[in-house]
Amino acid sequence: MLEFTEEQKLIRQSVAEFAQKKIAPIALSMEEKKEIPQDVIKGMGELGLLACTADPAYGGSGLDAVTAGVIAEELAKADCTGSTCVFYLVQAAWGFLLNKYGTEEAKKEIFPNVVKGDWFLGIATTESGAGSDVVGGRTMIKKDGDDFIVNGEKMYISGVREAVTHGGGHVTIAHQTADLGSRGMTVFYLPLTADGITPTYIADLGREGISCGGFSIDNVKIPKHYIIGEENKGFYIIHEGYEYARALIAVICAAAGLKSLENGMNYVKERKVFGRPLAKFQEINFRLAEHYTRLEMLKRLGYEALEA
Ligand SMILES: Cc1cc2nc3c(=O)[nH]c(=O)nc-3n(C[C@H](O)[C@H](O)[C@H](O)COP(=O)(O)OP(=O)(O)OC[C@H]3O[C@@H](n4cnc5c(N)ncnc54)[C@H](O)[C@@H]3O)c2cc1C
Repeated sequence: MLEFTEEQKLIRQSVAEFAQKKIAPIALSMEEKKEIPQDVIKGMGELGLLACTADPAYGGSGLDAVTAGVIAEELAKADCTGSTCVFYLVQAAWGFLLNKYGTEEAKKEIFPNVVKGDWFLGIATTESGAGSDVVGGRTMIKKDGDDFIVNGEKMYISGVREAVTHGGGHVTIAHQTADLGSRGMTVFYLPLTADGITPTYIADLGREGISCGGFSIDNVKIPKHYIIGEENKGFYIIHEGYEYARALIAVICAAAGLKSLENGMNYVKERKVFGRPLAKFQEINFRLAEHYTRLEMLKRLGYEALEA
């Protein structure tokens, strides 16, 4: 059974205070306005939550995965829409990858802008014809002297508008040696403000505070220092990011579910049918207990994965 440290408990408390005060009251209006207000983003930056896994040398908080999970859990309790949670988690997970495999030059350039909330750091691997099957993607990266040229498209990507409007970019994967399949893919940072990027946007149902869209990539030139990790080893590198992100998503989904269940529990105590509160009917309690057990198990599994 996972025990949280004193430091993690303190971080939980300060994130909970911030999230309940600044995010919970505007969760619905973020859906309507389709954006996370800048003061919330800046506040997250001031608390050290953005790309919190980056080393302090680049302005990050240098947090471990379990602590990143604690933050995700508190954000999810305040924002069941998931907008701020996704905004947070992609930067934590893909910041982890950039921090681990990125070049010194790229980290010094990108992280100081991301941790303050000026730039957005996302992930762009999905294409219109390739999701779980990463190798099925058609985007290509080619050496061009000291630089690289990228061509292709990405689709169903979170935070496109944020990176196009405010700056930043996405950790991206493409084929470099196409005939080698999974052994010929390379991961790199793609700034969405670069010439040759044309964004498109998708109208979502829910989680609308953060944008979802895609972009075409037409002869975009990137410098060598944007390559993340070894060339042609990208397939393996990207899966470390997926594992990190999926564990955080598990904690977020479970925490949002538990918060919804808590709201339901309050309701069944108040709502009366046939002369007594719903909570007095045994079957209702059995079901609530069953849901609670499953959600707690999911949350703990998420933490176990983060700890591993
Ligand atoms: C709101 C939203 C935001 C997103 N944000 C991002 C983002 O920021 N960055 C990003 O890169 N992507 C993002 N995605 C894409 C998301 O990660 C993809 O949906 C995911 O990769 C799955 O791909 P897919 O939907 O194309 O399904 P596919 O992977 O193409 O799967 C198609 C079908 O095949 C089945 N299938 C998959 N694998 C197997 C298997 N091994 N065996 C048998 N059946 C299988 C699936 O169950 C499904 O029914 C986002 C998607 C949404 C909806």
